[in-house]
Amino acid sequence: MDVQSPPDAPRRRAAPAVICYDPATLPDPGLTTLRSARATADMTCQITVPPREGRCFDVPAGHFFRISTIEGSQVGDLNLWSAANPSERFYSGKSRALHGTHLSIGDRLWSSFPHLRPLATITEDTLAWYGIDADGGGVHDVIGTRCDPYTHHLLSGEDYHHCCHSNLTRALMAHLDLTREAAEPLVHDVLNVFMCTGFTRDTGQYFMKASPARPGDYIEFHAETDLIGGLSACPGGDCGAQHSSDQARCYPLLVEIFAPRIQPADRPQPTRNGYGWPA
Ligand SMILES: [Zn+2]
Repeated sequence: MDVQSPPDAPRRRAAPAVICYDPATLPDPGLTTLRSARATADMTCQITVPPREGRCFDVPAGHFFRISTIEGSQVGDLNLWSAANPSERFYSGKSRALHGTHLSIGDRLWSSFPHLRPLATITEDTLAWYGIDADGGGVHDVIGTRCDPYTHHLLSGEDYHHCCHSNLTRALMAHLDLTREAAEPLVHDVLNVFMCTGFTRDTGQYFMKASPARPGDYIEFHAETDLIGGLSACPGGDCGAQHSSDQARCYPLLVEIFAPRIQPADRPQPTRNGYGWPA
């Protein structure tokens, strides 16, 4: 059905765009303090995530973790859980609403309701120079979900077993000794580390393009509370052409954990959100 524009369509479209959540109202991430602590840190652990697989890792509160490309351009799908209660997990949709479609230095990874507190803060990002490109694309998005076998089956009729959803599920099963039935519902929408994505301007469709990450690029986070991280080296590789298959060239990702020798005294762990329901 054709829908005719009303006569005042230009005026309606010209309503001013208002930023929904003013970033100035968010708590200061305290980057100067975090960088001082980071300068004293020693690396305590390295985990290599093989191509088309996932791994989980523990990050104590106050420690830092870095995700690096090491052999080639590679996208990673990141999940975060509170170690004390894995039902509290990263909430990509609210993090997007608060910070924008792509995250970088100073942005926080917020947790699910009713907690809504920062689980981690991004402290370094060697791809921060990328910004928003001419197609509207950016790096490290919170607009995609995670590649998964259900959507792939829906669209192709095929079964593929190394989507990021499946890799993260298996990694969490192994890490917490859970059944698949217990682990799978805890897997959630991701921070697409190193992935370059956007929405087409004419049709609003989700697009991806080859990641600008090169070996040696990294993004680093401060753990605001005890965390379990989950990382899948996406079967899409640099996600320049396809995903959910064995076609793309894939590389490992490196996770390194750093323990500061001096913890900032003025940085308590964030508490659960203070909202109270009426009695
Ligand atoms: Zn993926």
